[in-house]
Amino acid sequence: MANSEFEYVRKFEDWDALAPSNWIVVRIDGRGFSKFSKRQNFSKPNDRRAIDLMNAAAVEVVKQFTDIVVAYGQSDEYSFVLHEDCQLFERRAAKLATSISTAFSVEYCMQWDKYFPGQILERPFPTFDGRCVLYPKKKILRDYLSWRQADCHVNNLYNTTFWNMVKGNPVTDTPAMTPTEAELALKGTFSKDKHEILFQKFKLNYDKEDEIWKKGSVVYRKFEDKQSVKEPTSENQPPQSRNERGTEQGKKKPLSRTQMEKERKRKQKARVVVEHIDIIKDNFWQENPWILE
Ligand code: ATP
Ligand code: ATP
Ligand code: MG
Ligand code: MG
Ligand code: MG
Ligand code: MG
Ligand code: MG
Repeated sequence: MANSEFEYVRKFEDWDALAPSNWIVVRIDGRGFSKFSKRQNFSKPNDRRAIDLMNAAAVEVVKQFTDIVVAYGQSDEYSFVLHEDCQLFERRAAKLATSISTAFSVEYCMQWDKYFPGQILERPFPTFDGRCVLYPKKKILRDYLSWRQADCHVNNLYNTTFWNMVKGNPVTDTPAMTPTEAELALKGTFSKDKHEILFQKFKLNYDKEDEIWKKGSVVYRKFEDKQSVKEPTSENQPPQSRNERGTEQGKKKPLSRTQMEKERKRKQKARVVVEHIDIIKDNFWQENPWILE
């Protein structure tokens, strides 16, 4: 229907391309998961099957979108970081957010059976909304990721204490509280108070809780350090650094089309890993410098 009299309506569409040279985070979040987790009998505070399913979906999304350099997830949310040079969909915000959130939603539903065998997934099926946020500097992107990981820690400490109080503990003669009572009792408490409640009343050393709950999950492509690789193959080698590629008037030299294609194929072959590690301190970023290269 090209050049029809109706075509002018196209002009009503926004051109929503995101500003260049900014890191793009697509954050997706499960719709109504407080209700959904109850309906599906997730164990509280933390259901291992549910988080494994979130991570499995995220791994597939990272594999499908080679512009994603790292992803961080906790609870019913995931943040996918796209490289500042990303040109996918001409950086159009709605295309990026919807393509990633729908890919994630589909993976979550299609892999449900593997993580919840025999438990039927009924309508309304779980879906995830998505939004794009821009971060103009690596430092601010790092702060964003730190913010999510700190949030994971704070929420998990609260939820662990809350659910222990609601369940009670017969061994230590700690009676079960109603959710309202537990909420009231925790009002105004600090982190150290919650550690103390867990230890005294529930004989639980919070520091020994699984890292997956305290730290959340980091998904990224694993490349080996050039020096440590005995038999270098194109797959396990990290990408060329900016310096190796050379610079043009202080700016990064753009990759040629063939180089870009090679880069994409190499990324597709790379191993995608899920780790429950600290991303607030510098260690992770120093060990994997090519992630934000
Ligand atoms: P919205 O649609 O606004 O996001 P929501 O109900 O999904 O509403 P969130 O703040 O996203 O609100 O909360 C997510 C909920 O999912 C939390 O209540 C949390 O308890 C639950 N949840 C997520 N993952 C797990 C898990 N692995 N185990 C148990 N519960 C979980
Ligand atoms: P993009 O990701 O940019 O949307 P695309 O390949 O999906 O790329 P569209 O312009 O959306 O491009 O084109 C949709 C394609 O799907 C067309 O090529 C059309 O032939 C095919 N298609 C859609 N519905 C049908 C159908 N019912 N039967 C046969 N082909 C179909
Ligand atoms: Mg920049
Ligand atoms: Mg949610
Ligand atoms: Mg959430
Ligand atoms: Mg199409
Ligand atoms: Mg179409």
